[in-house]
Amino acid sequence: LEVIEAAEPSINAFLHVSADEARAQADAFDAKSADEKAGLPELAGVPIAIKDMIVTKGIPTTAASKILEGWVPPYDATVIERLKAAGMPILGKTNLDEFAQGSSTEHSAFGPTRNPWDTDRVPGGSGGGSASAVAAFEAPLALGTDTGGSIRQPGALTGTVGVKPTYGGVSRFGAIAMASSLDQIGPVSRTVLDSALLQEIIGGHDRRDSTSIPEGPRPMAAAAREGLKRDLKGMKVGLVKELSGEGFQPGVQARFDEAVAKLTEMGAEVTEVSCPHFPYALGAYYIIMPSEVSSNLARYDGMRYGLRVMPPDDVPQTAANMMAYTREAGFGDEVKRRIILGTYALSAGYYDAWYGSAQKVRTLIIEDFNKAFETCDVLVSPTSPSTAFKFGEKMDDPLAMYMNDIATIPANLAGMPAMSVPAGLSDDGLPVGFQLIAPQQRDEAMYKPAAALE
Ligand code: GLN
Repeated sequence: LEVIEAAEPSINAFLHVSADEARAQADAFDAKSADEKAGLPELAGVPIAIKDMIVTKGIPTTAASKILEGWVPPYDATVIERLKAAGMPILGKTNLDEFAQGSSTEHSAFGPTRNPWDTDRVPGGSGGGSASAVAAFEAPLALGTDTGGSIRQPGALTGTVGVKPTYGGVSRFGAIAMASSLDQIGPVSRTVLDSALLQEIIGGHDRRDSTSIPEGPRPMAAAAREGLKRDLKGMKVGLVKELSGEGFQPGVQARFDEAVAKLTEMGAEVTEVSCPHFPYALGAYYIIMPSEVSSNLARYDGMRYGLRVMPPDDVPQTAANMMAYTREAGFGDEVKRRIILGTYALSAGYYDAWYGSAQKVRTLIIEDFNKAFETCDVLVSPTSPSTAFKFGEKMDDPLAMYMNDIATIPANLAGMPAMSVPAGLSDDGLPVGFQLIAPQQRDEAMYKPAAALE
């Protein structure tokens, strides 16, 4: 809590610090007997920061939007219940692009988060708050949400580990919905083993999420520990041709090539694989995601929770007008852009041409992955085409902002687990991320080589 207080004026990673709750939870943990403590997971007692896209009982939850300002949820997300059961104190709620829509945290309604490596630069997004909090040592661990890269890309830009588990591997109950077929909660940490231990706590079946996979625990921490032996003999690694080279900053490409060389030195067999439909992933994502956004965000209507703005006196005081004034005042520009795009893509007459085509591309991307995984245990690429950029650099150019997600989006479209691990610094002195992607429900397969690279 002292580190948070000292760092926050320059970083702004937190929207809310739940100091009293965290102290009470820490005291409750300390008061446990040695026997009780022995029954808890290894991370018991370690505090954690939570992206403000995840609901926390009694602690304000905003999604960094004015439309939810002042809302205090009456329930905990499943992941929060599990953290509490594990004896992990909740430090507070971290900043993000409004409703997790963005790649720089500049779209937060409550001011941007700064990158601890250079406070003139963005920490990535949407989970820049969680990534910066961990990178600045304000929190040893954090949770994020990843719909198109929002855990992994901020991980890359801040030199932290960020994991998007298999779709359905971690319950989305209590995660504020952005694009439900893509959203997944996952760990942010400073080491690969920490993320593995955290995923074991938050993961596993939950009947309150209809997309939750009914399966037992995965041996992720064991895989990370195995990786720390740095012996990868027999492991087949596929270098995705379409996700590096042209368009990637030379310093990013250089660190990526070095990490690949390390994998080879440790005994992995590295080959190049082609996923010919990946160049269409970004286009498909920016149809499917806004479509789901337009539908999910319809619930912010001024009736149920959060902000309510009544029309001025000279305007009829109808529910429809109240809704329009509330949404006009409550949503920021980027969120409005996506609601409009998505509503258009789903409208009668255009549905098949836009949404239908994008869903077909999605199937082709899944087939590319399945084919690559016939010969590879894990696929690799740089996480993000560039290192952290300056504030304002991409704010007027949505397409340039969207390009950040080029390497992270395929895994969301296909539901594959993927993670970013630090791969050293580029020539500009800023962190570079290395991405590993594994087949569905084989999250442990990426943890082993990821730990080996540390
Ligand atoms: N940057 C991507 C977007 O703007 C990813 C968002 C996310 O993963 N939540 O949609």
